[in-house]
Amino acid sequence: MRPLDYIAPKDAKEAVDLLLENSDSSCPLAGGTDLIVDLKHNPGNITMLVDVSCIEEFRGIKEIEEGLKIGSMVTFGEIMSSELCQKYIPAVIEGAHTVGAVQTRNLGTVGGNLVTCVPSADSAPSLMVLESIVTIIGTDGYKSMPIEDFFIGPRKTILKSHELLVNILIPKKNLSKPSKFLKHGLRKGQALALVNAAASMYLNKSDIISEPKIALGAVAPTPLRALKAEAFLEGKKYSEEVINEAAEIAVSEAKPIDDFRSSAKYRCDIIRTFTKRVLIQSADQAKQKN
Ligand SMILES: Cc1cc2nc3c(=O)[nH]c(=O)nc-3n(C[C@H](O)[C@H](O)[C@H](O)COP(=O)(O)OP(=O)(O)OC[C@H]3O[C@@H](n4cnc5c(N)ncnc54)[C@H](O)[C@@H]3O)c2cc1C
Repeated sequence: MRPLDYIAPKDAKEAVDLLLENSDSSCPLAGGTDLIVDLKHNPGNITMLVDVSCIEEFRGIKEIEEGLKIGSMVTFGEIMSSELCQKYIPAVIEGAHTVGAVQTRNLGTVGGNLVTCVPSADSAPSLMVLESIVTIIGTDGYKSMPIEDFFIGPRKTILKSHELLVNILIPKKNLSKPSKFLKHGLRKGQALALVNAAASMYLNKSDIISEPKIALGAVAPTPLRALKAEAFLEGKKYSEEVINEAAEIAVSEAKPIDDFRSSAKYRCDIIRTFTKRVLIQSADQAKQKN
Protein backbone atom coordinates (compact mmCIF):
# COMPACT_ATOMS: atom_id res chain seq x y z
CA MET A 1 0.00 0.00 0.00
CA ARG A 2 1.42 3.43 -0.88
CA PRO A 3 2.03 6.05 1.87
CA LEU A 4 -0.83 8.47 2.58
CA ASP A 5 -0.92 11.88 4.28
CA TYR A 6 -2.79 11.93 7.58
CA ILE A 7 -4.57 14.90 9.15
CA ALA A 8 -6.67 14.93 12.33
CA PRO A 9 -8.85 18.08 12.26
CA LYS A 10 -9.97 19.52 15.60
CA ASP A 11 -13.66 19.85 14.71
CA ALA A 12 -16.30 19.04 12.11
CA LYS A 13 -16.05 22.37 10.29
CA GLU A 14 -12.30 22.02 9.82
CA ALA A 15 -12.83 18.45 8.55
CA VAL A 16 -15.45 19.59 6.02
CA ASP A 17 -13.17 22.43 4.82
CA LEU A 18 -10.22 20.05 4.40
CA LEU A 19 -12.33 17.53 2.49
CA LEU A 20 -13.70 20.30 0.26
CA GLU A 21 -10.25 21.78 -0.47
CA ASN A 22 -8.95 18.30 -1.37
CA SER A 23 -12.14 16.85 -2.79
CA ASP A 24 -10.43 14.65 -5.42
CA SER A 25 -7.70 13.29 -3.20
CA SER A 26 -8.97 12.98 0.40
CA CYS A 27 -11.51 10.96 2.35
CA PRO A 28 -12.67 10.65 5.97
CA LEU A 29 -11.09 7.99 8.16
CA ALA A 30 -12.93 6.50 11.15
CA GLY A 31 -11.86 3.07 12.50
CA GLY A 32 -10.40 2.16 9.10
CA THR A 33 -11.80 -1.40 9.07
CA ASP A 34 -13.51 -0.88 5.71
CA LEU A 35 -11.49 2.02 4.33
CA ILE A 36 -7.96 0.65 4.73
CA VAL A 37 -8.95 -2.64 3.09
CA ASP A 38 -10.56 -0.72 0.21
CA LEU A 39 -7.53 1.58 -0.24
CA LYS A 40 -5.17 -1.37 -0.28
CA HIS A 41 -7.03 -2.90 -3.21
CA ASN A 42 -8.17 0.24 -4.98
CA PRO A 43 -6.47 3.47 -3.81
CA GLY A 44 -7.80 5.55 -6.73
CA ASN A 45 -6.71 9.20 -6.34
CA ILE A 46 -6.71 9.17 -2.54
CA THR A 47 -3.52 10.60 -1.04
CA MET A 48 -4.85 12.08 2.23
CA LEU A 49 -6.82 10.61 5.14
CA VAL A 50 -8.85 13.06 7.22
CA ASP A 51 -9.23 11.35 10.61
CA VAL A 52 -12.65 12.24 12.02
CA SER A 53 -12.59 9.64 14.79
CA CYS A 54 -11.55 12.05 17.56
CA ILE A 55 -13.93 14.91 16.73
CA GLU A 56 -15.72 15.46 20.03
CA GLU A 57 -19.08 16.18 18.41
CA PHE A 58 -19.02 12.76 16.68
CA ARG A 59 -18.37 10.85 19.90
CA GLY A 60 -20.44 9.52 22.79
CA ILE A 61 -23.89 8.13 23.49
CA LYS A 62 -26.16 10.67 25.16
CA GLU A 63 -29.76 10.76 26.33
CA ILE A 64 -31.21 14.09 25.24
CA GLU A 65 -34.73 15.49 25.20
CA GLU A 66 -35.40 14.21 21.66
CA GLY A 67 -34.16 10.65 22.32
CA LEU A 68 -30.87 8.76 22.34
CA LYS A 69 -28.06 10.33 20.34
CA ILE A 70 -25.25 8.08 19.13
CA GLY A 71 -22.20 9.85 17.72
CA SER A 72 -21.12 8.55 14.32
CA MET A 73 -17.68 7.64 15.75
CA VAL A 74 -19.08 5.39 18.47
CA THR A 75 -17.63 1.90 18.04
CA PHE A 76 -19.61 -1.32 18.17
CA GLY A 77 -17.71 -2.19 21.35
CA GLU A 78 -18.90 1.05 22.96
CA ILE A 79 -22.50 0.34 21.92
CA MET A 80 -22.31 -3.14 23.44
CA SER A 81 -21.04 -1.87 26.78
CA SER A 82 -23.33 1.17 26.98
CA GLU A 83 -25.91 1.04 29.77
CA LEU A 84 -28.09 3.48 27.83
CA CYS A 85 -28.10 1.18 24.79
CA GLN A 86 -28.81 -1.85 26.97
CA LYS A 87 -31.73 -0.04 28.57
CA TYR A 88 -33.27 1.59 25.50
CA ILE A 89 -32.12 -0.12 22.28
CA PRO A 90 -31.16 -3.78 22.92
CA ALA A 91 -31.79 -4.67 19.25
CA VAL A 92 -29.00 -2.27 18.23
CA ILE A 93 -26.68 -4.10 20.63
CA GLU A 94 -27.76 -7.41 19.04
CA GLY A 95 -26.71 -6.02 15.65
CA ALA A 96 -23.39 -4.68 17.01
CA HIS A 97 -22.64 -8.02 18.63
CA THR A 98 -22.71 -9.79 15.24
CA VAL A 99 -20.13 -7.51 13.54
CA GLY A 100 -16.84 -9.28 12.78
CA ALA A 101 -14.88 -10.21 15.91
CA VAL A 102 -13.72 -8.29 18.98
CA GLN A 103 -10.93 -6.45 17.12
CA THR A 104 -13.31 -5.23 14.40
CA ARG A 105 -15.95 -4.21 16.94
CA ASN A 106 -13.39 -2.24 18.95
CA LEU A 107 -12.29 -0.21 15.91
CA GLY A 108 -15.34 -0.24 13.63
CA THR A 109 -17.83 2.58 14.12
CA VAL A 110 -21.54 2.74 13.53
CA GLY A 111 -20.97 5.78 11.29
CA GLY A 112 -18.39 3.98 9.17
CA ASN A 113 -20.76 1.04 8.83
CA LEU A 114 -23.65 3.22 7.62
CA VAL A 115 -21.45 5.28 5.25
CA THR A 116 -19.88 2.18 3.69
CA CYS A 117 -23.50 1.32 2.89
CA VAL A 118 -23.20 -2.32 1.92
CA PRO A 119 -26.64 -3.99 1.79
CA SER A 120 -25.57 -6.36 4.59
CA ALA A 121 -24.51 -3.62 7.08
CA ASP A 122 -25.40 -5.05 10.47
CA SER A 123 -26.11 -1.75 12.20
CA ALA A 124 -28.78 -0.72 9.70
CA PRO A 125 -31.88 -2.94 10.31
CA SER A 126 -32.26 -2.25 14.06
CA LEU A 127 -31.71 1.49 13.59
CA MET A 128 -34.30 1.45 10.78
CA VAL A 129 -37.05 -0.28 12.78
CA LEU A 130 -36.53 2.33 15.51
CA GLU A 131 -37.06 5.07 12.87
CA SER A 132 -33.66 6.65 13.48
CA ILE A 133 -32.78 10.08 12.18
CA VAL A 134 -29.29 10.78 10.87
CA THR A 135 -27.64 14.21 10.93
CA ILE A 136 -24.97 15.19 8.44
CA ILE A 137 -22.78 18.28 8.15
CA GLY A 138 -21.56 20.02 4.99
CA THR A 139 -20.81 23.51 3.77
CA ASP A 140 -24.46 24.55 4.36
CA GLY A 141 -24.40 23.40 7.99
CA TYR A 142 -26.41 20.55 9.48
CA LYS A 143 -29.15 18.51 7.80
CA SER A 144 -31.25 15.67 9.30
CA MET A 145 -33.22 12.93 7.56
CA PRO A 146 -34.77 9.50 8.19
CA ILE A 147 -32.06 6.85 8.00
CA GLU A 148 -33.72 5.22 4.95
CA ASP A 149 -33.16 8.40 2.93
CA PHE A 150 -29.42 8.23 3.72
CA PHE A 151 -28.95 5.04 1.66
CA ILE A 152 -29.28 5.53 -2.09
CA GLY A 153 -27.55 2.48 -3.61
CA PRO A 154 -25.02 -0.26 -2.98
CA ARG A 155 -22.03 1.49 -1.35
CA LYS A 156 -23.66 4.85 -2.04
CA THR A 157 -25.14 7.29 0.46
CA ILE A 158 -26.57 10.75 0.07
CA LEU A 159 -23.25 12.26 1.36
CA LYS A 160 -21.20 14.46 -0.97
CA SER A 161 -17.44 13.85 -0.80
CA HIS A 162 -16.88 16.69 1.72
CA GLU A 163 -19.93 15.91 3.89
CA LEU A 164 -19.80 13.96 7.14
CA LEU A 165 -22.19 11.86 9.18
CA VAL A 166 -22.44 13.49 12.62
CA ASN A 167 -24.82 11.34 14.64
CA ILE A 168 -27.81 9.02 14.71
CA LEU A 169 -30.84 9.85 16.85
CA ILE A 170 -33.26 7.19 18.05
CA PRO A 171 -36.43 9.20 18.73
CA LYS A 172 -37.71 9.28 22.31
CA LYS A 173 -41.01 7.60 21.35
CA ASN A 174 -39.09 4.49 20.27
CA LEU A 175 -36.78 4.11 23.28
CA SER A 176 -37.49 0.70 24.88
CA LYS A 177 -39.85 -0.21 22.01
CA PRO A 178 -40.06 -4.04 21.77
CA SER A 179 -37.65 -4.99 19.00
CA LYS A 180 -35.39 -7.80 17.80
CA PHE A 181 -32.41 -8.24 15.41
CA LEU A 182 -31.21 -11.53 13.88
CA LYS A 183 -28.44 -12.31 11.41
CA HIS A 184 -27.80 -15.37 9.28
CA GLY A 185 -24.27 -15.87 7.93
CA LEU A 186 -22.24 -18.80 6.73
CA ARG A 187 -20.60 -18.92 10.18
CA LYS A 188 -21.62 -17.59 13.59
CA GLY A 189 -18.70 -15.15 13.71
CA GLN A 190 -16.57 -13.25 11.19
CA ALA A 191 -19.16 -13.62 8.43
CA LEU A 192 -21.16 -11.05 6.53
CA ALA A 193 -24.92 -11.50 6.60
CA LEU A 194 -26.62 -13.64 3.97
CA VAL A 195 -29.71 -12.02 5.39
CA ASN A 196 -30.20 -9.88 8.49
CA ALA A 197 -33.54 -8.73 9.84
CA ALA A 198 -35.06 -6.58 12.56
CA ALA A 199 -38.58 -5.84 13.70
CA SER A 200 -40.29 -3.66 16.27
CA MET A 201 -43.93 -3.38 17.34
CA TYR A 202 -46.35 -2.66 20.13
CA LEU A 203 -49.22 -4.93 21.20
CA ASN A 204 -52.13 -3.72 23.31
CA LYS A 205 -53.85 -5.84 25.94
CA SER A 206 -56.15 -7.30 23.25
CA ASP A 207 -53.09 -8.32 21.20
CA ILE A 208 -53.69 -5.71 18.51
CA ILE A 209 -50.48 -4.83 16.69
CA SER A 210 -49.47 -1.19 16.31
CA GLU A 211 -46.51 0.60 14.74
CA PRO A 212 -44.98 -2.61 13.31
CA LYS A 213 -41.67 -2.03 11.53
CA ILE A 214 -39.60 -4.58 9.60
CA ALA A 215 -36.15 -4.03 8.06
CA LEU A 216 -34.11 -6.49 6.01
CA GLY A 217 -30.47 -6.46 4.96
CA ALA A 218 -28.54 -8.17 2.15
CA VAL A 219 -31.74 -8.71 0.18
CA ALA A 220 -31.81 -5.57 -2.00
CA PRO A 221 -29.37 -2.88 -3.21
CA THR A 222 -29.71 -1.08 0.16
CA PRO A 223 -31.09 -2.10 3.57
CA LEU A 224 -34.83 -2.28 3.03
CA ARG A 225 -37.99 -1.49 5.03
CA ALA A 226 -40.75 -4.02 4.28
CA LEU A 227 -43.45 -1.36 4.08
CA LYS A 228 -46.20 -3.55 2.63
CA ALA A 229 -45.75 -6.16 5.34
CA GLU A 230 -45.82 -3.38 7.95
CA ALA A 231 -49.06 -1.95 6.50
CA PHE A 232 -50.60 -5.43 6.48
CA LEU A 233 -49.79 -5.92 10.19
CA GLU A 234 -50.98 -2.53 11.45
CA GLY A 235 -54.19 -2.95 13.49
CA LYS A 236 -54.34 -6.76 13.06
CA LYS A 237 -54.80 -9.10 15.99
CA TYR A 238 -51.56 -10.99 16.62
CA SER A 239 -51.72 -14.65 15.50
CA GLU A 240 -49.50 -17.20 13.83
CA GLU A 241 -51.43 -16.84 10.55
CA VAL A 242 -51.01 -13.07 10.54
CA ILE A 243 -47.25 -13.34 11.17
CA ASN A 244 -46.90 -15.99 8.43
CA GLU A 245 -48.76 -13.77 5.97
CA ALA A 246 -46.60 -10.75 6.88
CA ALA A 247 -43.44 -12.82 6.34
CA GLU A 248 -44.72 -13.90 2.91
CA ILE A 249 -45.35 -10.25 1.98
CA ALA A 250 -41.83 -9.33 3.18
CA VAL A 251 -40.38 -12.01 0.88
CA SER A 252 -42.28 -10.47 -2.04
CA GLU A 253 -40.85 -7.03 -1.24
CA ALA A 254 -37.22 -8.19 -1.20
CA LYS A 255 -35.01 -8.41 -4.29
CA PRO A 256 -32.32 -10.90 -3.30
CA ILE A 257 -29.61 -11.89 -5.76
CA ASP A 258 -27.65 -15.05 -6.45
CA ASP A 259 -24.01 -14.61 -5.46
CA PHE A 260 -21.08 -16.69 -4.24
CA ARG A 261 -22.46 -16.70 -0.68
CA SER A 262 -26.01 -17.84 -1.39
CA SER A 263 -28.71 -18.35 -3.99
CA ALA A 264 -31.60 -15.91 -4.16
CA LYS A 265 -33.98 -18.78 -3.43
CA TYR A 266 -32.16 -19.67 -0.21
CA ARG A 267 -32.18 -15.99 0.78
CA CYS A 268 -35.97 -15.95 0.28
CA ASP A 269 -36.32 -18.92 2.64
CA ILE A 270 -34.21 -17.11 5.24
CA ILE A 271 -36.17 -13.86 4.83
CA ARG A 272 -39.42 -15.77 5.47
CA THR A 273 -38.03 -17.56 8.55
CA PHE A 274 -36.23 -14.55 10.01
CA THR A 275 -39.11 -12.14 9.46
CA LYS A 276 -41.33 -14.53 11.42
CA ARG A 277 -38.73 -14.88 14.17
CA VAL A 278 -38.05 -11.18 14.67
CA LEU A 279 -41.79 -10.42 14.67
CA ILE A 280 -42.58 -13.22 17.14
CA GLN A 281 -39.72 -12.20 19.45
CA SER A 282 -40.73 -8.53 19.31
CA ALA A 283 -44.32 -9.56 20.12
CA ASP A 284 -43.10 -11.70 23.06
CA GLN A 285 -41.33 -8.65 24.49
CA ALA A 286 -44.44 -6.52 23.91
CA LYS A 287 -46.60 -9.07 25.76
CA GLN A 288 -44.23 -9.03 28.72
CA LYS A 289 -44.57 -5.25 28.94
CA ASN A 290 -48.40 -5.45 29.02
C1 LIG B 1 -12.59 -8.69 9.47
C2 LIG B 1 -13.79 -7.80 9.24
C3 LIG B 1 -15.04 -8.28 9.58
C4 LIG B 1 -16.16 -7.47 9.36
N1 LIG B 1 -17.40 -7.96 9.69
C5 LIG B 1 -18.50 -7.19 9.51
C6 LIG B 1 -19.78 -7.69 9.87
O1 LIG B 1 -19.94 -8.81 10.35
N2 LIG B 1 -20.85 -6.87 9.66
C7 LIG B 1 -20.73 -5.61 9.15
O2 LIG B 1 -21.73 -4.91 8.99
N3 LIG B 1 -19.52 -5.12 8.81
C8 LIG B 1 -18.40 -5.87 8.97
N4 LIG B 1 -17.17 -5.39 8.62
C9 LIG B 1 -17.08 -4.06 8.01
C10 LIG B 1 -16.64 -2.91 8.96
O3 LIG B 1 -16.00 -3.35 10.10
C11 LIG B 1 -17.80 -2.02 9.36
O4 LIG B 1 -18.50 -1.55 8.22
C12 LIG B 1 -17.33 -0.82 10.22
O5 LIG B 1 -18.41 -0.41 10.97
C13 LIG B 1 -16.76 0.35 9.43
O6 LIG B 1 -16.47 1.40 10.35
P1 LIG B 1 -15.06 2.09 10.44
O7 LIG B 1 -15.10 3.01 11.59
O8 LIG B 1 -13.96 1.08 10.45
O9 LIG B 1 -15.07 2.90 9.08
P2 LIG B 1 -13.88 3.27 8.07
O10 LIG B 1 -13.33 2.04 7.47
O11 LIG B 1 -12.91 4.20 8.70
O12 LIG B 1 -14.72 4.09 7.01
C14 LIG B 1 -15.68 3.47 6.19
C15 LIG B 1 -16.20 4.46 5.16
O13 LIG B 1 -16.97 5.47 5.78
C16 LIG B 1 -16.39 6.76 5.55
N5 LIG B 1 -16.62 7.47 6.83
C17 LIG B 1 -16.30 7.03 8.06
N6 LIG B 1 -16.81 7.86 8.99
C18 LIG B 1 -17.46 8.84 8.33
C19 LIG B 1 -18.21 9.99 8.74
N7 LIG B 1 -18.41 10.30 10.04
N8 LIG B 1 -18.76 10.77 7.80
C20 LIG B 1 -18.59 10.46 6.47
N9 LIG B 1 -17.90 9.40 6.03
C21 LIG B 1 -17.35 8.60 6.94
C22 LIG B 1 -14.95 6.51 5.17
O14 LIG B 1 -14.43 7.54 4.36
C23 LIG B 1 -15.09 5.21 4.42
O15 LIG B 1 -15.54 5.46 3.11
C24 LIG B 1 -16.03 -6.17 8.82
C25 LIG B 1 -14.75 -5.70 8.49
C26 LIG B 1 -13.64 -6.50 8.70
C27 LIG B 1 -12.28 -5.96 8.35
